[in-house]
Amino acid sequence: MTSSASSSVIDAPAREDPAVPVTGMSELWLAILRELEPKLQRSQFITWFRDTALLTREGATIVIGLPIPMALDWHLQNYRNTTLDAARICDSTIENVVYKVDGTLKDNRERAVDILEHFPEKKRRKLPGKQEVKMAEGIVSKILNPKYTLENFVVGSHSRLANAACQAVAGAPGGKYNPLFIYGDVGLGKTHLLQATGNAILRHMPRAAVVYTTTEDFTNQVVEAIRSQKMDQLRRRYRSVDVLIIDDVQFLANKERTQEEFFHTFNSLYEERKQIILSADRPPQELQLEDRLTSRFERGMIADVSVPDYETRLAIISEKAKEYEMFIDPAVLQFIAQHVTRNVRELEGILMQAFALYELEQRMPTVKSIAEIMRKLNKDPYEEEESVGFQVQTRRAPTFQDVLESVSRYYSVSVNDMLGASRVREILVPRQIAMFVGKAYLRMSFVRIGEIFSGRDHTTVMNAVTKIETKMQDDPQLLREVRAIEQELGLGR
Ligand code: ADP
Ligand code: MG
Repeated sequence: MTSSASSSVIDAPAREDPAVPVTGMSELWLAILRELEPKLQRSQFITWFRDTALLTREGATIVIGLPIPMALDWHLQNYRNTTLDAARICDSTIENVVYKVDGTLKDNRERAVDILEHFPEKKRRKLPGKQEVKMAEGIVSKILNPKYTLENFVVGSHSRLANAACQAVAGAPGGKYNPLFIYGDVGLGKTHLLQATGNAILRHMPRAAVVYTTTEDFTNQVVEAIRSQKMDQLRRRYRSVDVLIIDDVQFLANKERTQEEFFHTFNSLYEERKQIILSADRPPQELQLEDRLTSRFERGMIADVSVPDYETRLAIISEKAKEYEMFIDPAVLQFIAQHVTRNVRELEGILMQAFALYELEQRMPTVKSIAEIMRKLNKDPYEEEESVGFQVQTRRAPTFQDVLESVSRYYSVSVNDMLGASRVREILVPRQIAMFVGKAYLRMSFVRIGEIFSGRDHTTVMNAVTKIETKMQDDPQLLREVRAIEQELGLGR
């Protein structure tokens, strides 16, 4: 075994001895965390720095303890430099940061920093609720939800035309694209586009009377006006708006009186070159409305939104994750985008569930937990998502025998050779990896692992595990190999 400067640090105590003193270390670590916190998104900070500790310091090197193996590559890939910078601010003599996975740190209030206590959340983020707003003329419009913008609408080939039309209308309401008619199946972004266009218009014309309403609300208003004999008033009010946005006009079908009122409102707005934006779940000619209304709808611009392709779905879900300030493993996002194909709302629904899991239980979404969520949401397990449900239900936790076999397959060495006495490199490394996986994931003791490997001493196992942990930090190839094995075993992410 070669021994490098950092591995001699790593070989120092800590893992097996929860009583290692941390006085001084914890102060320094807190100071470093205070530097780090403002630089990271809160959710990332909480996720990756909870239950961490500064284990030891040897000369210019500090050893950071991480509670779970999965955190190791995130830290190496994403936080090592930032952490080093922060550490240097606190103590300019620090020159190196190394990591060590230490399972005993998990929820260990004695040794690991209680991140939620030291860094309490300042304010809870609130998603805006849907409310109504009274306009000057007495018209009720739903508040345009500020979360819908043209900027955060992800454009793909499924929505290129619709998006371009909305952009054009936002830039010049009442211009060539009047009315603008967007159609497509449920959950594909129609409401988003409509409200985003309204928001965009209001941004550069803050005084414009932009009214957004659903067909259902519009119908209710007509019914109420008829009942209270205030139809004239309603007409006047609607005719004074600058931009009228009506969502889901397929619900006008079979409502003759509402259709008639709408027809007149439409005409007067149209003549005054006021912008009208409509959505429906199908194109105008299939709406089964009065012909005169259908032909009005067909006068302007008609654009559809269809089902987004894989790349667009992935882009959408990544955008949403960003909006919710949720850091999710890209592999998990890919998994969701692959399996939720039918509509974007479902895509978002899965993400929201993952978000809840994350907020309430501080659990990182994994492919496995997402697959479980999908299986729960999926009423018919034999439908589309069959393979997902199947995989989750039948996958049992791996045994050490599975670990041995997996490693043996990966490196093409026999299990017997790994268990045996040979010290050639080709066998030594797989053996050490198997030991590492057994310790890190199966939580086996060093003694037990030693027994399996032909009665090796527990210190031998300990050295092997440490060696792999250390080498993974500097050897991306080894890191990939270990991750591949973990993945095959369904461990880690
Ligand atoms: P529809 O009105 O067509 O039923 P919505 O506009 O309500 O669908 O969309 C459902 C959800 O999916 C919304 O939260 C919306 O923000 C989101 N969404 C749909 N398409 C996109 C897209 N291309 N980019 C970003 N978000 C989208
Ligand atoms: Mg809608």
